[in-house]
Amino acid sequence: MFISSEEAIILSIPLNLKLTIEEQVIDAQGKFDYDKENECCLCKCELYDDLKSLNMEIAIKNQQNLISSVQKGSSEILVVRLGQCQGMHFYHKECIEMQLKQSPEDNPFIKCAVCNKIYGKQVGDMPSGTMSWHSKSFRSCPLGGFTEEQSPHVIIIQYNIPSGRNKDGTQFHGTSRVAYLPGNIEGIKILTLLAEAFRRKLTFKVGTSITTGASNCVVWQGIHHKTSPTGGTSSFGYPDPTYFERVTDELKGRNVTLDQLTKPEDIKSGYIQV
Ligand SMILES: [Zn+2]
Ligand SMILES: [Zn+2]
Repeated sequence: MFISSEEAIILSIPLNLKLTIEEQVIDAQGKFDYDKENECCLCKCELYDDLKSLNMEIAIKNQQNLISSVQKGSSEILVVRLGQCQGMHFYHKECIEMQLKQSPEDNPFIKCAVCNKIYGKQVGDMPSGTMSWHSKSFRSCPLGGFTEEQSPHVIIIQYNIPSGRNKDGTQFHGTSRVAYLPGNIEGIKILTLLAEAFRRKLTFKVGTSITTGASNCVVWQGIHHKTSPTGGTSSFGYPDPTYFERVTDELKGRNVTLDQLTKPEDIKSGYIQV
């Protein structure tokens, strides 16, 4: 294998991992703390026994590279940095390759174990925005078709995608949406999947609004949400007995499944920015 003479090179990953490239402004001036950072984010073991002999600052400055690696002389690549994380997240090369191999064959991806940034194919083209949620008591926000015993809390999700510009410079109009889930096991599962879909930029896209016919609007991308707590299916609300099954299938169709996820989201509150 050809190894560049530079100390920091872009790691060529097998499986033809297609990575999305975005520019991010991250403070690249920070010095590398060799004692504090000498830990692989995945296996939590020491990154390298003689880390000080590697010039880690080269990898830190490579903000535009998705994945930077650090090697010693012409020997094997040792340490990998996921370059689009908002932080210095380093891994053993073997650990990151193992994670890549364990991802589905038709959806190879890497997810940073620290900040959950996704590197991989199954990333949509949703513009930047935020997803946040909080819980209310059932009494203050009753859900159609549920009793207080079945759903003591109600999860309220708020999406915010500000207006911005497309890659070709034209303007698109942003959106704010609210969605509701029951605060029970089923609801937490769906919340966790919806959060993952948002991290992968699959929730919205820029397109034509079905309701107004206007183009260049931020619209849903086929993952259905309950935008009303009541009113039934005709009002995009509850009750809707097959909703959880349908939305789980929609997410599965985008390769967002619970078996890829390590822990459920916190029902009380959460905030994701992409
Ligand atoms: Zn490791
Ligand atoms: Zn990270």
